[in-house]
Amino acid sequence: MIHTDSCSADAVELLSVDNAIAKIHAQLQIINANETVALAQALGRVLALDVYSAINLPYERNAAMDGYAFASTDAVSGHEFGLNIAGTSWAGRPFCQPLQAGQCVRIFTGAVVPAAADSVVMQEAVTVVGEKVVFPAACRVRQNIREAGEEIKQHELLLAAPKVLTAADLGLLASAGVANVSVTRKLEIGFFSTGDELVSLEQPLTSGQIYDSNRYLLQGLLTDPCVNLHNLGTITDDEALLEQHLKTAATSLDVIISTGGASIGAADYMAAILKRCGKINFWKVAMKPGKPLLFGHLNNCVFFGLPGNPVAVMITFDKFVKPALQQLCGYPRLKPLQIQAISTSNLKKTAGRQEYQRGILHQHTNGQFSVQSVGKQGSHLLSSLSHANCYIVLSQDCEGVNIGDWVTVEPFAAFI
Ligand code: AMP
Ligand code: MG
Repeated sequence: MIHTDSCSADAVELLSVDNAIAKIHAQLQIINANETVALAQALGRVLALDVYSAINLPYERNAAMDGYAFASTDAVSGHEFGLNIAGTSWAGRPFCQPLQAGQCVRIFTGAVVPAAADSVVMQEAVTVVGEKVVFPAACRVRQNIREAGEEIKQHELLLAAPKVLTAADLGLLASAGVANVSVTRKLEIGFFSTGDELVSLEQPLTSGQIYDSNRYLLQGLLTDPCVNLHNLGTITDDEALLEQHLKTAATSLDVIISTGGASIGAADYMAAILKRCGKINFWKVAMKPGKPLLFGHLNNCVFFGLPGNPVAVMITFDKFVKPALQQLCGYPRLKPLQIQAISTSNLKKTAGRQEYQRGILHQHTNGQFSVQSVGKQGSHLLSSLSHANCYIVLSQDCEGVNIGDWVTVEPFAAFI
């Protein structure tokens, strides 16, 4: 079904959210440049080259628990047996003498198991009598030893690129002695606000003015280990100035994001400027809020013209800009987590655009989810976003939701 923009004088066909996402995806390529960073600086960066392990993991055979190491050939099946304690193998201080028949060693978790031993029994299971250990009749042999290379063998693949490096990855790389990794270089991203009404936080407001909240919102949304941020300030609704600003920024940045001036008002210039100085890939999406989204490029610089209303800024960022940035950095293609929840609110909606209403998701003790609307859904109401912990996604054709209906919800975070 084609949805038209009934609000505009020259009705345009609106692109569906999915088609807009597909168009962005088709347009972008991974940033083709890597840099080497120290492991401690690599969290959240995208691994660019496969990493192979220079060593076995574990490096050597070691004990999985505190106890006594012995050779299974010394065990007497079905009977108690006693072995003499020849010494101790500590983590970091191995027992270096050869283990003789009839001997065992005291051993601690992570300590090297003497070559002649193939079994470790936990200390709670044995009785120590002087220099002798009595092992129980039910003693199991060939247990509690971590084999060398059991996790990863020397020269085997440790981590495959591309991969967004997590804390666990850093730990894994460190366990193999990897001190530096090759990652995709950071994206250079500039963002600015447009609007004659915008003033900075230090100034008192006069009539007609508002504070520029979008730049703070975007600053927060864009803060990421893969991004170098360039805050390009607030620019008035002056077409020539905006054009100059955009053209200059595009010479050195990978991505530019503006807010405001993307619609069809008399002071909205972003689409005309992009058309003149670069290329519009698409303009306007069948979604609410966020309809005036503008996407294209100026030479090699990707451009997103986000709407001015702050709620629309966050939603268009989450739906379009964030996946685009991930694609540029080399992330695998990710989909937002969606879950089904029972609505505890009536939700107003007319057919035509996909809506992202703000909700509060709740998980009940039986595991089931319910979601409540935050109330008023105006795209200027930043408090609705601040209170919400999820989007309630209502399809283009949906004509409203009654209490008790199932709805699709996208949580903002893994914790609610
Ligand atoms: P526009 O898309 O420029 O027509 O702006 C739509 C609405 O968003 C208007 O009410 C603007 O005042 C508001 N707006 C635009 N930019 C910002 C901003 N940076 N911070 C807060 N509100 C904004
Ligand atoms: Mg404006």
